[in-house]
Amino acid sequence: MNVCDGDSNGKKNGKKFGVYFHVPFCRASRCAYCDFYSIAAGRSAVGSWLEAVAAECEQARQGRFGGSWTVSSIFFGGGTPSLLAPRDIAGLLEVVGRCWNIAGEAEITVECNPEDVDGRWAGGCRKAGVNRLSVGVQSFDRHYLAAIGRRHRPGKAARAITVARKAGFAKVSADLILGGPGSSEPLVLGSVERALELGVEHLSAYGYHLDPPASGYGRAGFGPVDDDAWSGQYLAVCALLRKRGWRHYEISNWANGDDAQCRHNLTYWERRPYLGLGPSAHSYGPGETRTANAADLERWLAAARSGDFSAVRTRETLDGDTVACEQVMLGLRLEDGVPLRLLERLHGAETAQKLDLLAGRSLLALRSERVCLTDGGFLLYDSIAGRLLPAG
Ligand code: SF4
Repeated sequence: MNVCDGDSNGKKNGKKFGVYFHVPFCRASRCAYCDFYSIAAGRSAVGSWLEAVAAECEQARQGRFGGSWTVSSIFFGGGTPSLLAPRDIAGLLEVVGRCWNIAGEAEITVECNPEDVDGRWAGGCRKAGVNRLSVGVQSFDRHYLAAIGRRHRPGKAARAITVARKAGFAKVSADLILGGPGSSEPLVLGSVERALELGVEHLSAYGYHLDPPASGYGRAGFGPVDDDAWSGQYLAVCALLRKRGWRHYEISNWANGDDAQCRHNLTYWERRPYLGLGPSAHSYGPGETRTANAADLERWLAAARSGDFSAVRTRETLDGDTVACEQVMLGLRLEDGVPLRLLERLHGAETAQKLDLLAGRSLLALRSERVCLTDGGFLLYDSIAGRLLPAG
């Protein structure tokens, strides 16, 4: 990898951006609740994807991310990125390093299925330069895992975390699913406690849902347990982690200290530039431009063969209203919320009335001239964000 010293404010090495690889493969059966794009893995398809995604990366270097850019984070998501061999991951990191400088402190994450993590795989990833693993634990309850259709046993997830530590990963995150069939507060809290015992320093907790969320912005939707049960589980997790001194830095994410926050995902929520590579991947920037690759591996591979990825990419230049909508929608997901002056610009004299109504129901608070949702406000995120959008 072409790693540079970097600096924390980005001046020395130019502008910074994140790189996302969408690995569109899973094992034979897909999970019913999942709304990410993936297909059943086959080694020849993985080989074609590796070649094509390297080509897409190099094209971005010649195009939109040409010039003086530094990579501040790299994220392998999916799909199931742990189906990649460490040498595949190392190869792609080499490609990124040939295209741009990678900041010395860059966060490099791979999402992994517990069943794929053994000492050899974890050690190989560490050697390749990966420094953060995100483990798809979902739950430490065997019956609940079966109810939501996950094949691994709880012991596999615990072992994956332990193996990651032994391989030298200082940053390990666990994903949990709340609100699935048969879930309860004690069951969910039991999984959080177990994750804490195992020493993870980051947790993501998503709501189980079988339909895509209407807004497309959030995954913390309502599950098949009733709304009261879901709310109880979510608030119980918030309370437990707050008691342990963790930061609830985003609607579905908690970190044990500032350094443990997922820097790559903050790039999305804070509207900083990122390059998404692979079918279904999205990109933002430079400037107010968003692009989205079609969620179709065959079409994307055909585009790679033709040397023109624009054939599978939609492009949108955001106007001022859309930018304002995104600032509200994405900002409200964060602990630090949105600047009061942004809402005043959008709602003028009506701002105080709108905010007072929500503050009176303890759904938001004003902190240092920023409007921040409370835990109860996060539960009603879609409806509150809708009220605070320009036309709300
Ligand atoms: S393994 Fe992950 S990405 Fe694949 S279908 Fe299940 S939840 Fe979705």
